[in-house]
Order: sequence, then structure tokens, then C-alpha cells
Amino acid sequence: MKPVIALVGRPNVGKSTLFNRLTKTRDAIVADFAGLTRDRHYGNGKQGKHEYIVIDTGGFEPDASSGIYKEMAKQTRQAVAEADVVVFVVDARGGVSAQDYDIGKYLRKLGKPCLVIANKAEGMKDGAQLSEFFELGLGEVFPVSAAHGQGIRSLVDMALALLNWTVPEDAAEEADPAVIKLAVAGRPNVGKSTLINTWLGEERLVAFDMPGTTRDAISVPFERNGQRFELIDTAGLRRKGKVFEAIEKFSVVKTLQAIESASVVLLLIDAIQGVTDQDAHIAGYILESGRAVVVAINKWDAVDEYQRELVKRSIETRLGFLKFAALHMISAHKRQGLGPVWDSIAQAHRSANCKMPTPVLTRLLLEAVQFQTPKKTGVYRPKLRYAHQGGMNPPIIVVHGNSLEHVTEAYKRFLEGRFRKEFDLVGTPLKIQMKSSE
Ligand code: GDP
Ligand code: GDP
Repeated sequence: MKPVIALVGRPNVGKSTLFNRLTKTRDAIVADFAGLTRDRHYGNGKQGKHEYIVIDTGGFEPDASSGIYKEMAKQTRQAVAEADVVVFVVDARGGVSAQDYDIGKYLRKLGKPCLVIANKAEGMKDGAQLSEFFELGLGEVFPVSAAHGQGIRSLVDMALALLNWTVPEDAAEEADPAVIKLAVAGRPNVGKSTLINTWLGEERLVAFDMPGTTRDAISVPFERNGQRFELIDTAGLRRKGKVFEAIEKFSVVKTLQAIESASVVLLLIDAIQGVTDQDAHIAGYILESGRAVVVAINKWDAVDEYQRELVKRSIETRLGFLKFAALHMISAHKRQGLGPVWDSIAQAHRSANCKMPTPVLTRLLLEAVQFQTPKKTGVYRPKLRYAHQGGMNPPIIVVHGNSLEHVTEAYKRFLEGRFRKEFDLVGTPLKIQMKSSE
């Protein structure tokens, strides 16, 4: 599991600027997908080998008793509760405010590992002006400039050092590729537990071990038609005896972690509600994680033709960036449409782990170029020479040649379509990288 870093502080100290710095290092597979919501407060970050999750919080008033501030305080407390380390951001230029004292007091009581960061410290003489922040009683204060990218690297180092965090030795690769690790993700009430219980009640599905219910984490190995699966811990669910139960608390961090440890994610949407902001956010995390995905709209039994049209349209407009995924209309409750979901899960898994030999890729590439030559921009005409597979899960195709930086997005999409068709890739993101030689 990746460590979770929460950013806390009063409004305007630079938390969102810092959030963007901390999360943008990640190789952005999302860049090409239009319509992906960007106003998220949870993000993945990476520094060297170290990966982490960052939570941004709104401005924090620990004692707020009403209105929007109360809601923000609630969300901040939840973020802090989920975090492994708290980064308390103050304004190096503004000095200590009453609000900072309140937040400091709250964090001292909380007793979590905490790092105080004085932002906007670009061009300031080391230390001198920061001494007043020691009054917050949280130890040393470190100057950074989120806007100018100064001190960010050591901030991450220090935050992870507070946790004695080390990268688990080859933990990622030990997974058995024959086992599909499946996460059912979705907002509360979309029908996750209903679906899982319906599955587990199926005759064709053999669940192996349903050990005690003491632990919060869920992991049920099972087999269906000869394919082995592992159902992994899903946010907002708890096992009670032989059935799963929805619990009230929904945790974005748990959802993120479930997505990360899955090999295929089944995203459930509620047909009655249509696609909500939260659905779009979860879909965004799935895309960003590079995981294979299948989308199922549940409660299809409960909506009329008119609503069905609306839902289909909201899928197109709001989840357009998951176009590569198979889409199913199901009823977990009435056990309708579930068979094809299994087929799509297997297909998504197969697609994500597809092996694409260099000769085949190169032949396809050259055929594509012959069919449609990339456009000339200015004096440059990109020359695509050969392609090889640069990675799996999600598959990456690296195209080699000259002047490839002038290949348009539209042309990359054209290539993607050809590759997808040839290798029958459904349900996995596919990344195409251009590598120009000198
Ligand atoms: P938040 O409300 O805490 O999320 O703060 P924002 O990230 O929205 O930043 C508030 C303002 O501070 C914006 O105008 C930023 O451009 C500015 N800001 C953020 N980081 C820095 C910094 O390192 N130096 C300076 N001078 N300004 C910054
Ligand atoms: P979770 O929070 O995602 O685990 O959602 P639950 O499985 O607890 O389901 C929430 C509510 O939706 C419950 O009242 C279910 O009975 C209902 N529900 C689940 N699946 C379906 C379905 O396919 N059709 C209808 N009409 N209701 C459903």
C-alpha cells in the first residue's frame, strides 16, 4: 500500500499549488483524454521509486460550527484520519496567524507524524523569518516554494522518512498472472455488495476460503469456469458471515488502494442516479492508475426507457475517457446481464497483459503509414520506422523514427485504433510513445 500524505492549512497558503507539484511527476497517461475531471483532491505522486497518495484539503477551521466551513472541517478531519503523515502548510510571508495556532493545536493533539512547511519562501534568507513558526510547537519548519518548485524533493523525502517508508522489495511483481485480482469500485449504494453476494451465491462460482470476519480487509479467492480470481478489499464493504454488507463510511483512499492492487476494476454506476461527480472522479482514478476496467450500469431493472437514454448519454459525455472499456447494463438484484460481465473482465485482463511481438507491431505500423501518412507540419514530416512493446499492464507501444514530436494527437489515435483492432484490445488503456532518434 502506498503511504498517504495529507496537506492541511488555512486557505491561500498554497496547498493546491503544492498538490499539483506533488502529483504531476506521475507519467501522465491521462493527458490525451478529453473530459477527464481535474478538480480532484486526491492524487498519485512519485519520486524516484517512491510512490505515494496526496490528499489536498480545503481551508481548515478546526472550530467551525456551521455552513461550508463545517463541511470543510469535516472533510479535512477525514483526510487527516486517513493520512499516514500530515503536511501542515503555512505562509512564510504571512507569519503565524490565529488560525495556524488552532490547526497546530489540533495536530499536536492528534499525534500523527507531522511536517510543517513554510511555503512562498522563494528568495527568502534561510531560516531567519521562519523562527516564529516554531511557536506552533510542531518542531522544525522547512521552507519551500510550491510555485517555483523549490524544496519539494526534500519535502517528500522528509515526509516519507517520518514513516520509515521503504519501497517493498519486488512486492509488485510477485502476483500470479493467472489470477485475476478484481476490485468492484463505486459510490456507496450503487449495489456493490448486492452484486458480490449475488456472485458468491452462484453455483458456478466456487469461493475457497471465507475466514473470520474480524479483519476489515476483504480478499476472497474463487474460481469460475476454471479461471481463478481474487476479490480484493473494496471500499465501503465489510464481510459479515457469508455475505458482504455495505458500511456507511466511504473512503476515497481505500478506493484508490483497491484500484491500485487490482488487475481489473469493475466500475459500478447506478442507473437511477446516472453518472455523478463522484462516479467521474472514481473513473478518473481508474484511468490514471492504468488499470484494466469494465463498466457496468446497475439497477437497469429499475429505470424506464427515458431514464435509460439519459444514463447512456451521461456515460458518453462524462465517462467518454473510458471509451476503451466494455459497457454492460445489469441488475445485480434480479441477476440479469451478469454473464457477459465475466467475459469482459477476462477480456480486459487478457488485453492488459497482451504480448505484442516487434515484427507484428512494425508491420502494423508500416501498413498504417501506407494507409494514411502523418501530416507534414512546417518543414517536418514525421517518419515512423518501427515499433516495439515498451510495457505491459497497461500495454505501451513505443514507436521509433524521426521528427516524431510532430505526430499529431489525431494521428496517434488513428494508430491506437489500428493496434487495438489487430490485437483485440478491449478494456485496457493503451499508451503510444513516440521516440525520435537523432
Ligand atoms: P490554497 O488555498 O492553500 O490551496 O492556496 P493556492 O495553492 O490556491 O495558492 C494561493 C495563492 O498563493 C495563489 O495565488 C498562488 O499562486 C500563490 N502561491 C502558491 N505557492 C506559492 C509560492 O511558492 N510562492 C508564492 N510567492 N506564491 C505562491
Ligand atoms: P453498495 O453500497 O454499493 O454495496 O450498495 P448495496 O449493494 O448495499 O445496494 C444499495 C441499494 O440498492 C440496496 O437497497 C439494494 O437492494 C439496491 N440494489 C442493488 N442492486 C440493485 C439492482 O440491480 N436493482 C435494484 N432495483 N436495486 C438494487
